[in-house]
Amino acid sequence: MYPYLYKITAQVTPLKYDCGLLCSSICCRPDPNDTLGIYLYPGEEKMFSGQEDWLVWEEHNRDEQFFPPSWPNTIYFIQCIKSCPRESRPLACRFFPLAPHITPQNELLLIHETLALPYDCALINNRIPLQQNFIETVAHCWDILLSDYRLLDLIEEDSRDRDVHHEKLEVIWQKNQ
Ligand code: SF4
Ligand code: SF4
Repeated sequence: MYPYLYKITAQVTPLKYDCGLLCSSICCRPDPNDTLGIYLYPGEEKMFSGQEDWLVWEEHNRDEQFFPPSWPNTIYFIQCIKSCPRESRPLACRFFPLAPHITPQNELLLIHETLALPYDCALINNRIPLQQNFIETVAHCWDILLSDYRLLDLIEEDSRDRDVHHEKLEVIWQKNQ
């Protein structure tokens, strides 16, 4: 699954130009508290050799980080210490700033990420329209990823949490729109 997802997301980008030009790629740079990083999806670690000189790896405990019980005990958190080779970036980077959301009626939406971030994303803050092929590709990826019960559990949990904590979602895509 991951080789296919990496392949179809290799060339698609949120904008026609590099959105990093809007913010000096702030989402790729360490924040003052060095909290910025990415949790890999279950099994995604196999897409990496572990020897990448642009990455620092940490093994975290699923329960301590409040991931669903269906996830493996050990989850992988990576931080970038320099620019990545584009073709190697993890899925979370390829999808940003879109996040999947499942409604109580079981409908998949793509929304602007609602996680509290230690930076301002110009795409989110200025509601800059994203390329349609980017949106459609991310939606297709999530259709596939959600066949993995562990990711479904995580996205369900995140979605129910948003029901409580986020009144207004910025919906970017929904089926049959
Ligand atoms: S995704 Fe947002 S924060 Fe990251 S480089 Fe693009 S505009 Fe900047
Ligand atoms: S993997 Fe690449 S795109 Fe993702 S945060 Fe690191 S440098 Fe940025």
